[in-house]
Amino acid sequence: MRRDIEKNLGIKAYDIYGLTELSGPGVAFECEEQRGMHINEDHFIAEIINPETGEVLPVGEKGELVFTSLDKEAFPLLRYRTRDICVLSREKCSCGRTFIRMTKPLGRSDDMMIIRGVNVFPSQIEAVLLNNGYAPNYQIIVDRVNNTDTFDINVEMKEEDFSDIPTNITNKEKALQGAMKTMLGINPKIHLVVPKSIERSEGKAVRVIDKRKRLGINV
Ligand SMILES: [Zn+2]
Repeated sequence: MRRDIEKNLGIKAYDIYGLTELSGPGVAFECEEQRGMHINEDHFIAEIINPETGEVLPVGEKGELVFTSLDKEAFPLLRYRTRDICVLSREKCSCGRTFIRMTKPLGRSDDMMIIRGVNVFPSQIEAVLLNNGYAPNYQIIVDRVNNTDTFDINVEMKEEDFSDIPTNITNKEKALQGAMKTMLGINPKIHLVVPKSIERSEGKAVRVIDKRKRLGINV
């Protein structure tokens, strides 16, 4: 999206991060290095916690971003959970600013699935699809069979890959499965489906069907 905006408008685009509850935009911004966003630490204290236990994690570890406002009046926030998953860095930035940097949000803690004990975010699956030339039209189906989590991803195939030869499709599924395993650390079963066969919804797309919930499993 950034590349498209820069190309079509002939501008340089910078990421800005913020949340309405805190101040709106302007909590963090990219400098000219564009290697993460500097958080305005004169206004906000940033911490990273383990989203399951609430434990504060050392800088450099991935977890949920938490903010405390320092000079906000009437609506102060103390250790406010953003639900955004990211990594902070104190590494020296060559722009000269000393404020801590955050990565772009890598996912949402409320989207996080635990599959076979591994934390999985839909955003990771989306990244693999985009890197491999697929459109982000997919659906994740998680279930539990014989006390083991099953993990299936339906992905719409590209129009040009739509083939009558089953082995071609099987090979593409295997390749995508390998890329997912590298990113996630666990193996999903990939099913390439006919283009435009995954239901589109008007609002937020239903990306995850977690059938374990019917078993009363807290996921
Ligand atoms: Zn910088």
